[in-house]
Amino acid sequence: MTDLPPIDGAATLTPDDPVVSGSAGTWTLTYTVGEDEIQPGGVLRLTIPAGFTPPQTDHPGAPGFTTASCTAPRTTLALIVEEGQEGARGAELKLFLDTVPLQRREKVVVVYGDRSGGSQGAFACRTAGETAFQVAVQTGRGEMAFRPLKQSPVLRVIAGETRRIVVLLPSLVEVEKPFPVHVLAHDAFGNVLPARGDGLELQAERGDLRLPSPLTLKGVDGALRAAAKAPGGPCRIRAIHREAGIEGSSNPLLASERPDEALLWGDLHGHTTCSDGTAPPDAYYAHARDVTRLDFAAVTDHLDAGLSEGDGWEQVRFAASAFNEAGRFIPLIGFEDRDASGGHFNVYFQDLIPPEAFKNSGEALTVPHAHGRASWASPDLRTVRLAEVYSCWGSAERWGAVCSNTHPSRHPGSTIQAGLAYGLRLGLVAGSDTHTGAPGSALRVKMQSRHPGGLTAVYADAFTRPALWAGLKNRRCYATTGARIILRFEVEGYSMGSEVDLGGPDDPLIKGRAIAVKAYGASRISRIDIVRNNADICSYRGDNDVVQFRWVDAQDLTRISVPRPASKHPLTYYYVRVLQEDGEMAWSSPVWLTLTYLP
Ligand SMILES: [Zn+2]
Ligand SMILES: [Zn+2]
Repeated sequence: MTDLPPIDGAATLTPDDPVVSGSAGTWTLTYTVGEDEIQPGGVLRLTIPAGFTPPQTDHPGAPGFTTASCTAPRTTLALIVEEGQEGARGAELKLFLDTVPLQRREKVVVVYGDRSGGSQGAFACRTAGETAFQVAVQTGRGEMAFRPLKQSPVLRVIAGETRRIVVLLPSLVEVEKPFPVHVLAHDAFGNVLPARGDGLELQAERGDLRLPSPLTLKGVDGALRAAAKAPGGPCRIRAIHREAGIEGSSNPLLASERPDEALLWGDLHGHTTCSDGTAPPDAYYAHARDVTRLDFAAVTDHLDAGLSEGDGWEQVRFAASAFNEAGRFIPLIGFEDRDASGGHFNVYFQDLIPPEAFKNSGEALTVPHAHGRASWASPDLRTVRLAEVYSCWGSAERWGAVCSNTHPSRHPGSTIQAGLAYGLRLGLVAGSDTHTGAPGSALRVKMQSRHPGGLTAVYADAFTRPALWAGLKNRRCYATTGARIILRFEVEGYSMGSEVDLGGPDDPLIKGRAIAVKAYGASRISRIDIVRNNADICSYRGDNDVVQFRWVDAQDLTRISVPRPASKHPLTYYYVRVLQEDGEMAWSSPVWLTLTYLP
């Protein structure tokens, strides 16, 4: 495609004041022809931003009805909505202009959400942020390409009324050491508003906490500090806004005298303007750090859809370097690609280096996700240590289960259980796969697909990049559907992610294994399943937000372990699945037991 210069002309949008997310309106786009005349056969293209009601020209009484007119007499207009042109940036309307040339100062007027036929208008997208009504013109002078307008009108979508208060706390803290309390207000669609301090009350719902006083909140950065007075937990903080009649409870927090690890929360999957996302990398990282209050987040743009073109890599690396701060936020960089069998995977780099440098020296982690015709037998996957069990497309643990994956290109052979059965040692992670620049925003991501975005929790020795990397690499991590559930899972004292080799027939673990589970829910836990070699072998019914139990598997390991394509020796694995009453879930990384003395 040849690069043509931008078209001369001007476009305005009326009204252009901020619109509340999801609300109805009628917008008039007026294009005024500039130095570049439009010849008969010319086309004006208008892109209605993604998430807005798709435009239509057939049903005057239905939402999105769109009409067009022109100030030039004897001009014939044909307004067409291109089928299948609804991409990440929006739906395309094309206006074919015929009969006479359109000269300077002539106007073309498009009314989007025209109410004259009884329609409610058109509905703005549910995601707050800037949206562009992009205008491009094909002048009909034998030019096939569309020339964009230098400046297309921008409409600001803002959050609506507060419907929900969210309180976020770190999961593991030290006694008497102040920790941040973030209070966020969400509208009906999960857009985050500044939480106003006035009228807001905080209560220690559980646990012995020193709460901030007086209570002052500045913008979305609720710069509040609390501290635990004694070890224990789970502690929770409830925020109450009496006037508005809204309240919200925090995630659980455990306090100890000398915590030897941190539990870091992050989103490992999302796209920016460097491929098919709508927000640039710096806005993406800013959302993760300042809005959803994640400890880490990765940008994973498509290698084959823009990332490797132009300065995509440089943009991502530049943004990541600016946000990189141990103890506060760790940006990860990587990319999404497909293997020879068509399966999707993400690759992450430990350091903020470009992929060429990585090939020679750096360390990377490859994390497949169940899209495309993936085959776990692919030689590329022999060294894989992690897999994405959940994203906004749903759960890939096994098909047909609760919140099962709905991605159009999912494939039966690509479930997590298929990979584990193949003998791969897959630690489990989750992400959102956000394309709207909303990492960690469960609700905002849900608007773009069927499920809320997921989060990965990593046990790390410290809040640093090397410690986060080690936690991921050693599979000391688990996946959730977005709830900050604290989960501990051990088989005979070996924590999640461990590989245990049994060297002889006298090993006591062959006769029986004690499995210990501790889960502190973000709300009430309804069930915890222990899964052994893909079968649910023990289900513990809960009715509380804290569930702790021990269960002994007395099956002889030699009778249940089998050799697998990717494992020389017979192998058994366990993991746990947590279900909350509100539908949120968590999956631990497995523990593997290998009978290395048997062929
Ligand atoms: Zn994918
Ligand atoms: Zn993706």
